[in-house]
Amino acid sequence: MFEYAPAPESVRPQIKEHYGLFIGGEFVDAEHVFKSINPSTEEVLFTVAEASEADVARAVAAARKAQETVWGPMSGTERGKYLFRIARLLQEKAREFAVAESMDNGKPIKETRDFDVPTAAQHFFYHAGWADKLAYAGLGADPKPLGVVGQVIPWNFPLLMLAWKIAPALACGNTVVLKPAETTPLTALMFAELCQEADLPPGVVNILTGAGTTGSALVDSAVDKVAFTGSTAVGRAIAKAVAGSKKKVTLELGGKAANIVFDDAPIDQAVEGIVNGIFFNQGHVCCAGSRLLVQESVAEEVLARLKERVSLLRVGDPLDKNTDVGAINSAEQLERITALTEAGRGEGAEVWQPACDLPENGFWFRPTVFTGVQQSMRIAQEEIFGPVLSVLTFRTPDEAIAKANNTPYGLSAGVWTEKGSKILWAAERLRAGVVWANTFNQFDAASPFGGLKESGYGREGGRQGLEAYLDV
Ligand code: NAP
Ligand code: MG
Repeated sequence: MFEYAPAPESVRPQIKEHYGLFIGGEFVDAEHVFKSINPSTEEVLFTVAEASEADVARAVAAARKAQETVWGPMSGTERGKYLFRIARLLQEKAREFAVAESMDNGKPIKETRDFDVPTAAQHFFYHAGWADKLAYAGLGADPKPLGVVGQVIPWNFPLLMLAWKIAPALACGNTVVLKPAETTPLTALMFAELCQEADLPPGVVNILTGAGTTGSALVDSAVDKVAFTGSTAVGRAIAKAVAGSKKKVTLELGGKAANIVFDDAPIDQAVEGIVNGIFFNQGHVCCAGSRLLVQESVAEEVLARLKERVSLLRVGDPLDKNTDVGAINSAEQLERITALTEAGRGEGAEVWQPACDLPENGFWFRPTVFTGVQQSMRIAQEEIFGPVLSVLTFRTPDEAIAKANNTPYGLSAGVWTEKGSKILWAAERLRAGVVWANTFNQFDAASPFGGLKESGYGREGGRQGLEAYLDV
């Protein structure tokens, strides 16, 4: 076996000691502040303003003015130029953004560098292209923007979720007020600085940092639409809060995806897909393949190879380029993962973890595989949102589909088989917004993403995603 020498990332981004709220193109202070830490060391990275209800109202007013006087009346061609400029600046500053994201979130630099930041830039490029072609999107001859959009995002892909939200909203002529998650505001604030550098008209993008109360104040404010990504519980509260108002809503919520391995699957490839499906981003992925459904006749072989492969994952310093699995984002999330894992043990499932050293400080959880899982167990039903895989077996394709669909969620699913006909047969029956075949966790700005059932409604990305930001 190879030993890996440390390969630390050497660039350090310019992180300010303190960040204000970004309202009307300027950073302004607020009465209260809070800290953001690096979850891999527990060091404080910076302090940041907490937006009050009055700050929310000010930001929405700034966004309203910008929408009515500048951004709404502007031609799509001109709006597209700004989006291209933002995309290019993101590319230029990619390394700085990647390191900053790793430090604030705990995810490995390999992922921020090769996935989060390039995919965020891709979303701006893609939507820049739509800005002057909205009349050809199949959504009417002259689709109009909705106005001001309030956007609330989670901590698992801070910059990427920002891009998923802001790029289509701006392309369609809306202005935005966005609240990043409390534990990961850094790249949103760096993005605000980037908007200044791009000469984006003041008020088109406003960033309000804060906790859940800031988020709910934004939902209750005078916005025309709410776009939310986060947990099903908060999504439900938001749906209630806007019921009876004229506000439009899209909700991207949780998941408990089935990753189905049939007996004719290419096993090595499937094992890579299983590992990517659940251990990518520490399993903090809404569409993570957290339930492995494997056909009984190949279960033993798949599990043996899976354990071998998981034993090779390198867990540790997110800024080491060799690291596969980084830190858990917060003490609270670590507690939740630990509690659900304990529940799995308590209910009689068998737990397996590779031997690996964990750093002393910070929040860490070993990659974990549960076998002997029954459908009724909490680890088979609830979203763990961590590096924990629950393995179930099945005998027939029909049983696989029945088990896969036995969940209140419906965000994603994976199918592994060498037969195209089986892929189509399964995809037709799986109740999930996305079905991947012989691959997992593939994303593209041109491809719509979103859920069924308790995973939410509305689509992000692609032509379909534009509909959420237009009055059609
Ligand atoms: P969360 O608790 O729902 O938080 C998401 C965002 O909402 C955060 O910015 C949060 O602020 C804010 N918030 C909390 N309470 C609020 C309220 N009452 N009103 C308005 N906003 C409120 O979710 P999380 O635990 O951070 O994120 C993980 C969840 O997101 C998982 O369930 C995951 O599946 C889901 N997710 C879904 C997708 C998708 O596309 N479907 C993508 C990524 C994640 P604070 O940060 O201060 O709590
Ligand atoms: Mg942080």
